[in-house]
Amino acid sequence: MTEMILLKLGELVLKGANRYTFEDKLKSNLARRLKSHGKFRVYSRQSTTYIEPLSDECDMDAAYDAAKKVFGAVGVSRAKACAKTKEAMLETVRTYLAGNLVGEKTFKVESKRADKSFPMTSIQLSQWVGGELDELYPNLHVDVHNPALTIHLEVRDYAAFVHADPEPGAGGLPVGTSGRAMSLLSGGIDSPVASWMMAKRGIALEMVHFYSYPYTSPEAKEKVLDLARLLTPWTGRLIVHVVPFTHIQEELRRACPEELFTLLMRRFMMRIAEGMARRTGCRALVTGESLGQVASQTMDAMAVTGAVASLPVFRPLVGMDKEEVVRIARKIGTFETSILPYEDCCTVFTPRHPRTRPHLDEIEAAEAVLDVEALVQEALDATERVKIG
Ligand code: ATP
Ligand code: MG
Repeated sequence: MTEMILLKLGELVLKGANRYTFEDKLKSNLARRLKSHGKFRVYSRQSTTYIEPLSDECDMDAAYDAAKKVFGAVGVSRAKACAKTKEAMLETVRTYLAGNLVGEKTFKVESKRADKSFPMTSIQLSQWVGGELDELYPNLHVDVHNPALTIHLEVRDYAAFVHADPEPGAGGLPVGTSGRAMSLLSGGIDSPVASWMMAKRGIALEMVHFYSYPYTSPEAKEKVLDLARLLTPWTGRLIVHVVPFTHIQEELRRACPEELFTLLMRRFMMRIAEGMARRTGCRALVTGESLGQVASQTMDAMAVTGAVASLPVFRPLVGMDKEEVVRIARKIGTFETSILPYEDCCTVFTPRHPRTRPHLDEIEAAEAVLDVEALVQEALDATERVKIG
């Protein structure tokens, strides 16, 4: 009998017709993420999804780590399958959870019985296995209220499973169940976190990055591709649309008031991102903006930049402090790369006194001297498409 990985699905989405779309997506996302770790079978039964290794070559540690990063599961555990007898379950607890049994003082056994033909009730099974363990291990005592260790027994249709407490899963919804969106990915701390947060809500992402060669270095672009790569265990494969932005920035510097530079630049980013979204079937934009973080992220500034987009703009960090964002960046593994000191195109030609309360009329007047449509089209046509993962 073999070891498996069990994923507990979120309760809410399991209701109604959604359930099957949700489960199917979760299974196909898992299957794709597990490919590089061996041959596995992925299937669902009774609100649990199972990952079963099909050969001894499967790397179960890597598979377990990968499973913890797949959105849609609230809990993940490694479990041992055994015969559906109380003796086999006790024996499996003793061998498979040997490490857990030695270290703890208090425990309880929690049983679930999906197979109603099993001759004991869940309570009888827990009491029997718990009683045996209590006698066999002098260090262990039953404490049903506040146990240090909970041993889970699950009697299912075709086998029983033994496992310790599940670890938290990635939560959220399986990527792909909420549609596709275009995320504006810079080299900073915020936009990788914003992307991650929307992927968590089930959005399949494509990325768009603006770079200003030769004002920004090739390393700065590589850093952004690295960030995208670090996100793929959570988001799945990514396409990064790399947009040359230098010509637009030079035009803005040449023809527009300096204090509006950042806002005008951000409006071009939104237009190009939206153009790219429409070309690729994305139905929303994502940015890493947070209210009040910088001059271009005041309420008025966001209104002015958002005004050029007709697709919904998701700003999942809008109400978050930098510290909270940093905490997530560390957790998901993007922080160390984000703080590498390469310049971003936003830092090129930064105005000394950026306007924090812009009016749409003055912005539109400033843009009137440019051929906006032609500049957007030129950038879209020169975009490089990079596949990650
Ligand atoms: P980040 O830490 O994500 O770089 P930031 O605090 O530096 O964000 P800004 O530079 O004002 O903020 O950018 C706001 C948002 O605009 C970013 O979160 C990102 O979504 C988008 N953005 C900024 N620069 C770029 C870029 N070079 N390419 C793609 N998107 C960008
Ligand atoms: Mg930035």
